[in-house]
Amino acid sequence: MQRLVLFALGAALACGQPRPIVLKTQTLFDGKGNTLKNTIVVIEGAKIARLGGAPPPGAVTYDLTALTVSPGWIDTHSHLAVHFDSSGRLSGANEPLTQSLLHITDNLALTLNAGFTTVQSPGAAIDKDLREATARGIVPGPRVLTSLEALTESSGGPEQLRQLVRERKAQGADLIKIFASKSIREGGAQTLTDAQLQAACGEARTLGLRTIVHAHSPESAKAATLAGCTSIEHGAYLTDEVFNLMASRVTYYDPNIGLVLQNYLENKPKYFGIGNYNEEGFAFMEKGVGIVLDTFKRALKHKDLKIIYGTDATAGAHGQNYREFIVRVHDGGQDPMQALISATSLSAESLGMGDQVGSIALGREADIIAFDGNPLNDVKAAARVVFVMKGGTVFENLAYGASRR
Ligand SMILES: [Zn+2]
Repeated sequence: MQRLVLFALGAALACGQPRPIVLKTQTLFDGKGNTLKNTIVVIEGAKIARLGGAPPPGAVTYDLTALTVSPGWIDTHSHLAVHFDSSGRLSGANEPLTQSLLHITDNLALTLNAGFTTVQSPGAAIDKDLREATARGIVPGPRVLTSLEALTESSGGPEQLRQLVRERKAQGADLIKIFASKSIREGGAQTLTDAQLQAACGEARTLGLRTIVHAHSPESAKAATLAGCTSIEHGAYLTDEVFNLMASRVTYYDPNIGLVLQNYLENKPKYFGIGNYNEEGFAFMEKGVGIVLDTFKRALKHKDLKIIYGTDATAGAHGQNYREFIVRVHDGGQDPMQALISATSLSAESLGMGDQVGSIALGREADIIAFDGNPLNDVKAAARVVFVMKGGTVFENLAYGASRR
């Protein structure tokens, strides 16, 4: 019998067939709120083939028992292409394309190494190429979903917006990004009419596309919710009334409270003087940190509201996407397991990918990460991802004591 097994293994190796992978775990969060103890995860190809039982013969084994295992995390709002150029300033149109691409490649790798295996990157045409490059499996990076270019107040009336939605679909967009309000730096007032929002979100729904809507003011978020849009992004000034409406309509809420503003402030000289990154803007962002935290605390009281995990990461923030978790739990008071569910299965559900990613279960993509420490007991452990598998391929493995940090 033993000889037969060895023979079978030898034959598999000779043919170059992929061997199954076994992850030995002691503490495993499945992403749905369950904690599994002392189990193994069997991976065949890109998928999770089994949980528990005996290891299959010939498997490659990774011992993750000293770590805490979780589904790969999801950032529903990260601008993967935005970066600082070689002179250390926010990149602009004059940057040589080769340098631009390599800085963007850094962003992809930093994001994946931080444990984020799926990222929705709204608003840049190049994201489609990033999606395809990382899907080839050589360049390290998360699964990428893209809206391509966003729709804004200058996109035109309802009929033109419908046309643009159809165009994005034809161009290969996974979703539609819509700006329905001004920025937080400019007060966040509604910029698209109710009719424009109904046209854009209605057309997208007809075509099977989700819509994520930048909306800071209560009016803009209410209009987007009533128009049937999928999620409200940022929502710095949302009220209990709007949260109630969003909960009853199952509109997802994507507050970005832990990384984006902090990162702008920490990197002020690299942004300053470009567009509306001026003294007034920075003064406002300093106030904004407290405003969005208060709004988040208010949102948490709405138990039916589906709060998903997005950071709005821009230049300087990539690879620190975990900071959103730390602020939500440490400063916002969110239950850490709920924050973890938000970053995994709930965000996957909001992307329409709940049966593919965001949980460790039979048949899911093998997107699995491990922390040195347990982020539910020690929030800062969220920063210490030392093992990253995406689609059954190990991209980072510092699990045996090596450390980059
Ligand atoms: Zn954004």
